[in-house]
Amino acid sequence: MTSALPGSAEVLVLGAGLSGLAAATRLAARGVDVHLVDAGDAAGGPIRTVAIDGYRFEGGPNSIRGGGAAMTALIAAAGLLDQRTIASPLAKDRWIYHGGVHRVNGPKDLFGGNLLTPGGRARLLSEPFRRAWKGPRDATISAFIADRLGPEVVERLLEPAITGIFAGDPGDLELPALKMVAILAEHGGIIRGMKYLPRDKAQILSFAGGLQSLPRALGDHLGARLHLGVTVSALARDADAWQVDTSHGTVRAKTIVCAIPAPATARLLAAGSVGSSNGAALDALASLPMASVATVGLGLRDSDLARPASGFGLLIAPRTPLGRVQGLVFASSIFPDRAPPGRSAVTAIIGGVRAPDAVGLDDAALIAEATSALQKTHGLSNDPEVAVVHRWPRAIAQYRPGHAAAVRALRAALPRTFILAGSGFDGVGLADAVTSGYAAADAASN
Ligand SMILES: Cc1cc2nc3c(=O)[nH]c(=O)nc-3n(C[C@H](O)[C@H](O)[C@H](O)COP(=O)(O)OP(=O)(O)OC[C@H]3O[C@@H](n4cnc5c(N)ncnc54)[C@H](O)[C@@H]3O)c2cc1C
Repeated sequence: MTSALPGSAEVLVLGAGLSGLAAATRLAARGVDVHLVDAGDAAGGPIRTVAIDGYRFEGGPNSIRGGGAAMTALIAAAGLLDQRTIASPLAKDRWIYHGGVHRVNGPKDLFGGNLLTPGGRARLLSEPFRRAWKGPRDATISAFIADRLGPEVVERLLEPAITGIFAGDPGDLELPALKMVAILAEHGGIIRGMKYLPRDKAQILSFAGGLQSLPRALGDHLGARLHLGVTVSALARDADAWQVDTSHGTVRAKTIVCAIPAPATARLLAAGSVGSSNGAALDALASLPMASVATVGLGLRDSDLARPASGFGLLIAPRTPLGRVQGLVFASSIFPDRAPPGRSAVTAIIGGVRAPDAVGLDDAALIAEATSALQKTHGLSNDPEVAVVHRWPRAIAQYRPGHAAAVRALRAALPRTFILAGSGFDGVGLADAVTSGYAAADAASN
């Protein structure tokens, strides 16, 4: 369902994921004539909350990490400041499965537990005494961490951690993909770079009605400026304006904020002969790999779990796989209102670059994968009482070496009236999406 598309707008935002919503919200607040189009049937991209039988599951992102200035401003604009829920202290507990379940809360667990061998721990402790890192800026995250902390840390800590953020492989991702790691690398190592990291403590947030409360409220505020079910198919530029062809007609706009995935953006630009002065950057972004992920939300009786589903979640080291499951999020331990008393809500993340075929499995097979993983990690002894499946094909951008350089080159080749935003370009987290959308709004209203 969509309100009638206007023939023209001062700014047209393509994509109503969180980055496009942030851009449109800021522009609307400044009195700019802005419209927002999205191919989907709901605003917010993969942000999807489902309430069922007293459980509340997130089908896509589970929570916002980082309540920084831009995110707080957007939540305020949505009127949801008093609806925020902060993660319970239990969420401090993090777990890794490497042949068995290991807690990885901090140094005490790493040195007291048996996730790392004595040799692996000694290698880790030698970091400050090693020669400063001098690798290229677009070296892989694995290359940097292996150099600093040794291969065991890469295999048992880094690889599961990167699965949790990118559903990807740190051996394929460049340093700038993780801003903190890029800062450490720039300063020669972990201990050498530590003092340059930002000090702000990231909070983990959601809302009383679940994460989808945010895009819903932003969509409501945008009202008739938001057009859902509208697919952008082509764009062209003449002397005065952009001409954007969509499934529902053509819109002319002085400025475009483009907040759809990077490969789709690159293909639109190439077909419209825009930014083609930098063909190599367009090619790199058109072929950007995107990880596909399925999620299975499970409602479980606590009495069926030998080990409580307590903590933030559990990530799986790839050398000791649990089928195609990459991680478990203990949703009702993070936000207790997600399950009825005596019950736990757990979401299994399945697929990613290590199991790209998983999104093609049917519901029963995905639920079986999730259940089987929980049998092994938490001694689940019965069927779940509720199961909810979501699939997100080609959803999470994998920033390969050269990605940041390609984004810079493309931005330099584009006219000032075509502004890139979103997770294809500026970071894959929800907080990054908001910062990117606000920066795009600033550029569009300058
Ligand atoms: C399963 C999953 C779990 C995640 N978990 C977390 C988490 O817990 N915390 C976190 O911070 N981040 C998480 N992320 C990442 C987070 O979802 C992204 O950072 C965020 O959604 C990116 O927002 P965006 O606006 O850049 O892009 P998107 O949300 O992808 O929005 C792009 C929009 O463009 C639209 N579109 C595409 N092509 C066209 C076209 N041709 N015409 C019109 N519209 C088009 C799409 O419909 C979509 O709505 C997760 C992602 C997934 C998939």
